[in-house]
Amino acid sequence: MPLTGIEIYKLLPKTNCGECGVPTCLAFAMNLAAGKAELGACPYISEEVRAELKEASAPPIRPVTIGVGDRALRIGGETVMFRHEKRFENPPGFAILITDIMEESEVDARLERFSQLQYERIGLILRADLVAIRDDSGDASKFEALVNKVKQTNECGIILISTNPDILAAGLNACADWKPLLYAATEENLDRMADLAKENSCPLAVKATNLEELVQLTTRLMEAGVKDIVLDSGSRALRRVFEEQVIIRSAAINKKFHPLGFPTIVFPCEMTDDPMKEAVIASIFVAKYGGIIVLSDFQGESLFPLLVERLNIYADPQRPLMTTEGVYEIGGPDESSPVLLTTNFSLTYFIVSGEIEASRIPSYLLVMDTEGLSVMTAWAAGKFVGDAIAAFVKRSGIMDKVKHHKLIIPGYAAAESDSIEDELKGWEVLVGPREGAHIPAFLKMWEP
Ligand code: SF4
Repeated sequence: MPLTGIEIYKLLPKTNCGECGVPTCLAFAMNLAAGKAELGACPYISEEVRAELKEASAPPIRPVTIGVGDRALRIGGETVMFRHEKRFENPPGFAILITDIMEESEVDARLERFSQLQYERIGLILRADLVAIRDDSGDASKFEALVNKVKQTNECGIILISTNPDILAAGLNACADWKPLLYAATEENLDRMADLAKENSCPLAVKATNLEELVQLTTRLMEAGVKDIVLDSGSRALRRVFEEQVIIRSAAINKKFHPLGFPTIVFPCEMTDDPMKEAVIASIFVAKYGGIIVLSDFQGESLFPLLVERLNIYADPQRPLMTTEGVYEIGGPDESSPVLLTTNFSLTYFIVSGEIEASRIPSYLLVMDTEGLSVMTAWAAGKFVGDAIAAFVKRSGIMDKVKHHKLIIPGYAAAESDSIEDELKGWEVLVGPREGAHIPAFLKMWEP
């Protein structure tokens, strides 16, 4: 049984040092009990107590990792029902489906789309995460050959799909070292699947025909020693699946019901034949509460909106989206190109960089870390002022890239131009437009 906040508090040092980010040990204990704090945040807990508190601090939905290395996908680990309560932790993975009876050209086309369709936004690469390989032939060697092909052509997480443990074992011959998700243990094959998962240290999905059976099967898997489990309630009707996602999340978060305390997998690819409807269904499960979302296929126009939705839903609502501080080269600038300055609020960055691109004048854009605040807000908060800007320009490395000494600052920061020039000896500050839309016209007048 998880410990209550008061029970946890009795085990803490009670020094109220505040190093864990909250002012008192009691507040930390309450957050731990609610799954809103990490045990590691307090450096003064003894190993003994740490072990005792581990269960209390574990997130009610177990984090599960699929794959290895840079492309490993971590799902689950959620602690809240609604993102405004804290934040959602681990974005769902998107998977593209291929099968071992598909035409080779179709398999190649899907794998090509999987690797090519990726987009850079605010310094992040947005792309699909997993290839789901389904055994439809019943032929272990065909299945193994397809898994080998995927492994040779892509770096990705893998889901091996078959209800036949022998065929999954053949797939594992090819990719056990990539720690794929095995799909799925059922009433009929559960013991053998549990053994496969444990022998290969792979996560295991469990598929039931309803929630009651799902609880029974998951309980058996936990008793068999399988720790990393992914849940499929078995339904394929949209309304039913949606309701079950909410029930599973609520049982885990609100009731701390361990048999349902795992991430889920959903199959929009089995809910419709219409590709755009499939994307709309997938978007529902991005919000509530898919852990892995398996798509039959995708194109840029269906995948990109899903990736952006995922980015937004899993952004921390209490922190603005930020771009990484640095020098951004737009349009292949050279040593005579204009140098513009802005803040790292992502929306500001997108607008300014978009307008510079539209101007077709190659430029450097200096993006300064203002903790995600826009120009006016950062200036009003004292984070976008002369001495801070000058220090940033010096450390940015821009002085090695251009031979002129001109810096274009946003019109809303015009009041800082003198103090920047005082700090940046030899540099001339040009006050740019207040609105991004006026940047192209402004840049047309550029002379180094
Ligand atoms: Fe208490 Fe530990 Fe937090 Fe300090 S860091 S206030 S000792 S819980």
